[in-house]
Amino acid sequence: MAGRLDLDGNPIKSMKICMIGAGGFIGSHLCEKLMSETDHEVIAVDVYNDKIRHLLEPSGHHPWSSRISFHRLNIKHDPRLEGLIKSSDLTINLAAICTPADYNTRPLDTIYSNFIDALPVVKYCSENQKRLIHFSTCEVYGKTIGSFLPKDHPLRQEPEFYVLKEDASPCIFGSIEKQRWSYACAKQLIERLIYAEGAENGLDFTIVRPFNWIGPRMDFIPGIDGPSEGVPRVLACFSNNLLRREPLQLVDGGQSQRTFVYIKDAIEAVLLMINNPARANGHIFNVGNPNNEVTVRQLGEMMTEVYSKVSGEPPLEVPTIDVSSKEFYGEGYDDSDKRIPDMTIINKQLGWNPKTSLWDLLESTLTYQHRTYAEAIKRAIAKPFAS
Ligand code: NAD
Ligand code: UDP
Repeated sequence: MAGRLDLDGNPIKSMKICMIGAGGFIGSHLCEKLMSETDHEVIAVDVYNDKIRHLLEPSGHHPWSSRISFHRLNIKHDPRLEGLIKSSDLTINLAAICTPADYNTRPLDTIYSNFIDALPVVKYCSENQKRLIHFSTCEVYGKTIGSFLPKDHPLRQEPEFYVLKEDASPCIFGSIEKQRWSYACAKQLIERLIYAEGAENGLDFTIVRPFNWIGPRMDFIPGIDGPSEGVPRVLACFSNNLLRREPLQLVDGGQSQRTFVYIKDAIEAVLLMINNPARANGHIFNVGNPNNEVTVRQLGEMMTEVYSKVSGEPPLEVPTIDVSSKEFYGEGYDDSDKRIPDMTIINKQLGWNPKTSLWDLLESTLTYQHRTYAEAIKRAIAKPFAS
């Protein structure tokens, strides 16, 4: 890949990247991109590597074999972490507990994972003058200002009441007993700490706020490659329902709104950040697709239609059912009402725009889900009756 240039026309120097959480959904796509389209080296850190195993074939098998190494370690308690960060040019921290079903049922693990466990990463980067790209979340915005107005209030239609801007919007969370916000609050505090390290100690940082990135390898299908009782994020929940021919469960009527961005579009944005430090350092970036907004109910309806097309199976007569959030997630759940990212900063700094429509991204993702899981689900369903 020699000769690649950054956005200012300068040659991109190859870097050594310590990627923590490289074995997860986003990490696996980022590793693929870095191996296939750059000269950068990746030190992949995680407790699991199933999602990047295809990149870690024995030395010599892939053209990139010498540029990726896997280090199985838990960043909670492993003295090797500092050395790995010290030996790298850039650290990308993706490690987190980030499934909403955990926020209200495992709030301590959620807070430790998203704040306490990230602290040494920030400290080692700051002390050793290493660049850090830290993954936060759009959930730091919490609820929109408009959500506090009556349902039919005309101001609800005004963008200032719902568009989320990195440098202007407030962070609005629910009360402490709504433990859903444990994640958002922990992420907000680590963002503030990183920002302060930048201001007081000169840390070169970039903070990424993903807005519902979705695509292949996201989370797990309960009972197939994850626990039967586990509750993943909505893409995997609905995929699981479709694969098992069960109605999709709409929490509190599926009225919340989300914007979904295709993982491959979002990874382009991260690559621009990696390759353009002068434009990315010191910034917080929303990364989402404001054109792909739907209610969760509409998402369920579209996924039902797309899945029927890719699987060749007719949709169920009753494709969705309503379920209360208390029944689905338990006590302490609460929700973000609406998430539209403002794109001004990422546009100005990196010239990035998402490309893929919701229909197209669901078509490629559900084709993957069908190909990967349909047979395994059939076997799992048949098992109890097998002789
Ligand atoms: P993921 O759960 O698929 O990946 C996280 C990875 O971190 C997992 O592989 C996990 O094993 C690893 N990890 C967790 N704790 C660890 C530890 N102590 N030591 C070593 N490894 C550890 O999640 P993802 O969707 O890839 O998200 C990555 C990051 O992006 C997270 O910080 C998340 O909060 C943020 N984010 C993602 C989205 C999205 O749309 N996917 C939205 C908002 C925020
Ligand atoms: N949701 C749902 N049914 C499910 C799973 C999730 O209605 O089976 C809803 C959830 O209540 C939320 C939205 O889908 O309103 C998105 O949930 P997700 O877990 O993907 O994460 P979030 O966007 O809230 O961080």
